[in-house]
Amino acid sequence: MRLRRLSICSFALTIAFVAIGLMIAPLAHAANAPPPREVDAKRAAAAGIRELTGQHIRLFTDLPSSPAVDELPAVFDAAIPLWAKYFDLDENSIHGQFLGFLISDREKFASLGLLPEENRDFVNGYARNREFWLVEQPSDYYRRHLMLHEGTHAFMQTQLGGAGPGWYMEGMAELLGTHRWQDGKLTVGVMPASKEATPMWGRIKVIRDAMKAGKPWPIEAVLEVDNRRQLDTEHYAWTWALTALLDGTPAFREEFRSLKQHVADPAFNEKFKETYGPKWRLLNQQWTAFVAQLDYGYDLERMAIALQPAVKRSETEVSIAADRGWQATGWKLEAGQSYRITAQGQFQIAYDGKPWPCEPNGVTIEYHDGRPLGALLGAIASTKPSEGDPSFAKPMLIGSEAVIQPKSEGVLCLRVNDSPAKLGDNAGTIEITLELIPATK
Ligand SMILES: [Zn+2]
Repeated sequence: MRLRRLSICSFALTIAFVAIGLMIAPLAHAANAPPPREVDAKRAAAAGIRELTGQHIRLFTDLPSSPAVDELPAVFDAAIPLWAKYFDLDENSIHGQFLGFLISDREKFASLGLLPEENRDFVNGYARNREFWLVEQPSDYYRRHLMLHEGTHAFMQTQLGGAGPGWYMEGMAELLGTHRWQDGKLTVGVMPASKEATPMWGRIKVIRDAMKAGKPWPIEAVLEVDNRRQLDTEHYAWTWALTALLDGTPAFREEFRSLKQHVADPAFNEKFKETYGPKWRLLNQQWTAFVAQLDYGYDLERMAIALQPAVKRSETEVSIAADRGWQATGWKLEAGQSYRITAQGQFQIAYDGKPWPCEPNGVTIEYHDGRPLGALLGAIASTKPSEGDPSFAKPMLIGSEAVIQPKSEGVLCLRVNDSPAKLGDNAGTIEITLELIPATK
């Protein structure tokens, strides 16, 4: 697929050179970053390249005038205070101007010496200090996305003095490039609400396809992404997913945002593991649950694993909230024992002008993931999961009653079956009882 291939190659070479550049040259920090090249606007105009100017950017392009192209400097200017705020910088301290090139006919730019000398054959995008280049893209969304992606690289390199290792560099550019642009207002770091809102972006589809093929990436694999080599869309998708999870989940956010102080540290990944040390197990559990259910509109806050049930009534009775993702019951099940789990109570599984009542067996007029909407699901959070035990990736259907015989010891976690994008219109609780079934002799 031509478009797919384009995006596969998009940032690959870009990053390879950016990273190599950073490895061999001292980091250009803030005011020390070299200024962008001089561009002779008259000579460019004579060659069919026009200049679009914003407060923080000069953008040269050979594309004809259209609203979506002509407003790009306004998009870039709108991103500056958002990036500054994200990285906790004073907007007034953002030094100097950025210089961008949006290219349809590469020859025109080559003839004027406006391509990056060290990477004239970059595929879709490339950033170096205050300068960046992007090749025209097939959707307005994805053109803006690519500009914001490369812009994030340029911003981090020049304002933070570095951009971290490959996974963080690309993940941040994807996180802060994934945006909503509506009525002149920019929001970055969004979870796309739909495929239609982000044409040609496709990161969620890549992950869903990998899940269907049974090939999820563990966190360790994401951390090893080396952008000095050619990357493809899978690398962008998985690095985006990890940064989106870390930034969007309350339990992980503060640590994640503190990592910016290590962007120039070669031991960044060690710092990362140290930072999350006490939460490493929870992070891996949340990652497994996240990638298994990832979808447009995924509600990271509501889907955050709750370490406690909504209410603990007694040693064997708890309540589970219908408007949350996985909730730990606090019950540690032992391998080889049998347990009966019973559930009752009426709750709300949707609201479309009127509430949809539901019970723990779910409603069979609508399904999610092949199971009745609202049905109670169970997983065992185990340090050493056994094949066949219900897990966050492959939960078991509990409904109003089930008997479970875990092969591995772990904490029973429960949630109702619903789209991770649609928990906001749920309400109420399910009352759960746990009973140990004595072994018969
Ligand atoms: Zn990149």
